[in-house]
Amino acid sequence: MSQLLTISGLSAGTDEKPILHGIDLSVGAGETHVLMGPNGAGKSTLGHVIMGDPVYKVTGGTISFDGEDITDKTPDKRSLAGIFLSYQAPVEVPGVPLYSFLRTITQMRPELKTTARKFRERVGEICDQLDMDQGFLTRELNVGFSGGEKKKVEMLQLLLLQPKLAILDETDSGLDVDALSVVSRGIEAYRKECDGALLMITHNTRILEKLDVDRTHVMVKGHLVAEGPASLIDDIDRNGFARFEQASTSQK
Ligand code: ADP
Ligand code: MG
Ligand code: MG
Repeated sequence: MSQLLTISGLSAGTDEKPILHGIDLSVGAGETHVLMGPNGAGKSTLGHVIMGDPVYKVTGGTISFDGEDITDKTPDKRSLAGIFLSYQAPVEVPGVPLYSFLRTITQMRPELKTTARKFRERVGEICDQLDMDQGFLTRELNVGFSGGEKKKVEMLQLLLLQPKLAILDETDSGLDVDALSVVSRGIEAYRKECDGALLMITHNTRILEKLDVDRTHVMVKGHLVAEGPASLIDDIDRNGFARFEQASTSQK
């Protein structure tokens, strides 16, 4: 299968601290991958480095996406190329209503440009799909939103932008049953409507049961220490990360 995302020998960190060490990871178009690992392993850092967050410096290796080397590209170029990252802590933007924000990010994408009326219809459609109250759209972006409401915003963005690759960083953590079902439905619709690829960073094995997982990757201390089929998730669910942590110690 042709690879959508290919990460080769990637090392990265902040100015003070190396965090990722020689990461190799590939995701094919339309595939669902899961990235697991203990807290502090470097999972979020990998997501941010794929997105081009300038906080992190790449010190080795390459990232290519859709046949192009994007290692030195700016985050907005990566976003235009079709990469989407949901942040663990979304920013609050006072004064900007959610609806205007969604309209702006959609208009920035030439292939998604549309009339105001069609856009309104599309947003309405997505709100229905996600069982979301449309009153929500006039509120200021993320200001005072609950954890679950912020996730709904993410799912709205995901379904509007239809990226080729969505990296969802613990987008399902700390959610109540209702919010979790919104996230599940959003992911399902994304998979179905645009056959988008997913890189899910999660500790929640229940949300994964509904997804058809192609590959599971395990990160410990900035190294990818294991890769396997979906059944690896059940193994981790039962046995935790201990055996991988031992493996990573003996690797050094
Ligand atoms: P995970 O998402 O797997 O829990 P992170 O990627 O958030 O792990 O963090 C990996 C390690 O890198 C941690 O030790 C964390 O403190 C450190 N780290 C991540 N981002 C920064 C940063 N911007 N500045 C300093 N240290 C960071
Ligand atoms: Mg974490
Ligand atoms: Mg994290």
